Amino acid sequence: MTGPTFPHLFRPLQVGSRTLRNRVVSAGHDTVMVHDGRVTDQLVAYHEARAAGGAGLIVVQVAGVHPTAKYTSHVLMADTDDCIPGYRRLAEAGHAHGCAVFGQLFHGGREIMESEDGSLPVALAPSAVPTERFHVIPRAMPVPLVQEVVAGFGTAAGRLERAGLDGAELIASHGYLLAQFLNPRVNLRDDEYGGSEENRLRFVRECIAAVRAATSPDFVLGLRISVDEIGVDGLAVDETLSALARLDAAGGLDYLSVVAGSSATLAGSVHIVPPMSEPAAYTAPLAARVKAVVGVPVMVAGRINQPHEAEQVIASGQADACGMVRAMICDPLLAAKAQSGRAEEIRACIGCNQACIGHFHAGYPISCIQYPEAGRELVYGVRARASSARDVMVVGGGPAGLKAAAVAAERGHRVTLYEAGRRVGGQALLAQALPGRAEFGGLVTNLEGEAVRAGARILTGVAVDAARVAAEAPDVVLVATGARPRRPPLETTDDPVVLDVWQVLGGAEVPSGRVVVADFRCDWVGLGVADHLARMGRKVTLAVDGYMAGQRIQQYVRDTMTTSALRAGVEVLPLVRIVGADDDTVYLQHVLTGEPVLLPASALVLAQGHLPDDTLLHHLIPGARAPSFTSMEVPVPSDSGAGTPVSAPAGRGAPAGTQGPEVHGIGDVLSPRTAEEAVLDALRVATLL
Ligand code: SF4
Repeated sequence: MTGPTFPHLFRPLQVGSRTLRNRVVSAGHDTVMVHDGRVTDQLVAYHEARAAGGAGLIVVQVAGVHPTAKYTSHVLMADTDDCIPGYRRLAEAGHAHGCAVFGQLFHGGREIMESEDGSLPVALAPSAVPTERFHVIPRAMPVPLVQEVVAGFGTAAGRLERAGLDGAELIASHGYLLAQFLNPRVNLRDDEYGGSEENRLRFVRECIAAVRAATSPDFVLGLRISVDEIGVDGLAVDETLSALARLDAAGGLDYLSVVAGSSATLAGSVHIVPPMSEPAAYTAPLAARVKAVVGVPVMVAGRINQPHEAEQVIASGQADACGMVRAMICDPLLAAKAQSGRAEEIRACIGCNQACIGHFHAGYPISCIQYPEAGRELVYGVRARASSARDVMVVGGGPAGLKAAAVAAERGHRVTLYEAGRRVGGQALLAQALPGRAEFGGLVTNLEGEAVRAGARILTGVAVDAARVAAEAPDVVLVATGARPRRPPLETTDDPVVLDVWQVLGGAEVPSGRVVVADFRCDWVGLGVADHLARMGRKVTLAVDGYMAGQRIQQYVRDTMTTSALRAGVEVLPLVRIVGADDDTVYLQHVLTGEPVLLPASALVLAQGHLPDDTLLHHLIPGARAPSFTSMEVPVPSDSGAGTPVSAPAGRGAPAGTQGPEVHGIGDVLSPRTAEEAVLDALRVATLL
């Protein structure tokens, strides 16, 4: 089927000396695919996949311009000539596919997330104004150091041009050093770099001049800025617009890249990578306000996940190009599919933040829960055909089963997926019922579509037991039967109302009055169901077996969900485990002191994680005459940081040359985890069939 071809999105765009083939931009983003400050094979393969997929411009992640710019242990650096060979490989990889490649010139100033060796570095800023999110009190930069950093921006840009990059952008976004100089509440200097707007602009102007002096007139120079930093003491819209109008009038910049948010506060940082609760393209009106005061092209990023959203932003004149980072982490072929009328095949990002920015914050290479091939291009970049087609029976239609069916069918196997319920999707269908999480259901739509397009047969309402497997006689069985709610042993008297989360989300009656949600996993589920119940009019205490609600989920998602729950009236009680309940009291125990904690309540809701639903798996493996689980060695990129092969957590039966099918367990049936691990298990196993 041929869909719309997005005429505005695929119109070329002139930016400085370069003509971008379209307006789909992989905007700059950290990847944790850097080793010792340098570009790796993994990073080249990652970006090349997006260039090959049709992006018009790739902006490579931030690069430190001075030794004091190392804001993480895995930041890319451009402060010495050693960086040039790696950048050259990135430039060549992009250009080979007709894609322009820019870099990002960076100093984080007081925004220091971590360090190289665990010790705290001396953070720098215009003034000694603390930053709340990382609890850093910086040192005010003396003028000679200011000038040294300015020079660093210039020499770093020169290196990028010598490496063959088409351009670079100065990072004045998200409360980093250039923004700190612009901000009158962070820059309290009384010298030529502080005070008046003109003085606060001086550092930015000098950086622009340094880059222009160190590069040819052809080198494209942009500036990335948070038009609204959103948060206490952040740059406000009027301040930013005034600064941008002055900079544009002075010349020197070829484009502006508009975002929102700031690293300096929890509330502001949510907008660095906004989660699914934010509306699509919500920053586009900010870009429109910038376009009204400048003459250069304006790019915008912020939850632009689909080509029709980008088309609308550009067609309406709000911006000239769209940063679609997560959209292309999730589907590197987004641009090619959109341009060729196959937009409905795009694997749409759902804004979950789990494996992209979530991995970054945890210090691991970025990936995607729906597309774990991202960041693993060196291993999974090519879907190799199977040497011989086999009959593959997939049991269970959750994320693991759907992904396995898709990959196995793409490799040429004859695949049938059996789902016992009326619909495929598994726990993702419940997850989408949580407040602010509706988009999570897109994961099911995407994975099901991939499986069907690859040729897998999907049968719903068909339960599978060992007899059915024997009757079908497949070559391979992939058991993806998932998990069911865990009910820990509880001390109960007087018949208390005890429900699990699945029952609540399924519509079970919850008595009025106070409800205690006992949250073991400290993830989306307890927090979400507490919010859900509060919005149904219940008084809710979220009793967390950890330091805080959402402790184990990505910060921006946690903070957004916590904000929603607190606004709905949820009370959070940390550091307690569930012990029991009677008809009007829930009994807890403090996990540190061991003291009992009693809460009056009319109902207890258990968010206690899951147990594997592994009956079929245990039936099948003895039947396959291989009553042992062995691990499967799965290669990983040599520069992924893992260093050695990892073992996929896949239960495997089926000795070669014996009767009975080869059997694998994938996903929660092995150990209840999340959709990310379910999909990754499926990829690993289905790739080796
Ligand atoms: Fe999008 Fe979630 Fe994938 Fe990140 S992990 S790219 S937010 S779908």
